[in-house]
Amino acid sequence: MTLADALRVCTLAALVIVAGQVQAQEEVEITTQRLSDTVSVLFGRRGNIGVSAGPDGVFIIDNQFAEYTDEIRAAIATISDQPIRYEINTHWHFDHAGGNDNFGKAGSVIIAHDNVRKRIVTGGLIRVVDVDVPPAPREALPVITFSKSLTLHLNGDEVQLLHMDAAHTDGDGVVWFRGSNTIHTGDVFINGIYPLADPDSGGSFDGIISAAETILAMIDDETQIIPGHGPVTGKAGLQAYRDMCIALQKKIAGMKKSGMSL
Ligand SMILES: [Zn+2]
Repeated sequence: MTLADALRVCTLAALVIVAGQVQAQEEVEITTQRLSDTVSVLFGRRGNIGVSAGPDGVFIIDNQFAEYTDEIRAAIATISDQPIRYEINTHWHFDHAGGNDNFGKAGSVIIAHDNVRKRIVTGGLIRVVDVDVPPAPREALPVITFSKSLTLHLNGDEVQLLHMDAAHTDGDGVVWFRGSNTIHTGDVFINGIYPLADPDSGGSFDGIISAAETILAMIDDETQIIPGHGPVTGKAGLQAYRDMCIALQKKIAGMKKSGMSL
């Protein structure tokens, strides 16, 4: 058993819960938390949705599952009556980008890292949850992609999309609202449960730790952090997560060295 295998097992339970949600089409309640004059976060079923609304219109970060698009639109309509111009995907997973098709058909321009588009085009097996994601229709595909970074100048904010290499997946983009001092990390940081690395999508545990280090070096004590899942937190929350990841990695490496089985 490799260390990567062991870490995969640690993430299995949480990912199985995610997979179960694909089948579930229960009622979902979307709640909203306002973080600044222009930035809010929507909590519903699975991936947290960032919303920027202001004089230039609305753009959102992630969109959960296709089944919840109507509820998500209704929640956004309580913030702004403007159309949703852009939809940013933090990565390709179905609990974050599952509504791309709906938003794309409605005219939102989808933006993501190059590898997100590649994976959405082909689909693929995510073995840790035993889900084989089919190729997506044209309307679900990112139209604007980036390799290292991209900056949007909207709603009085400078919004940087930054690639975190081989972390949760190989296409992770964190969204850094410089003016609002708020960052949406996608699943490179999930607040309150064990880290998830999806090796079938090019993710790695080392990459998650280095992404946390990169983000910690960018932010300050006032920064608000929207994690991929879980409640909004600050720098101390991400530091605790980084420390937990390092401790977990050391612990499992020690267990493996002592000859323990998977
Ligand atoms: Zn994910």
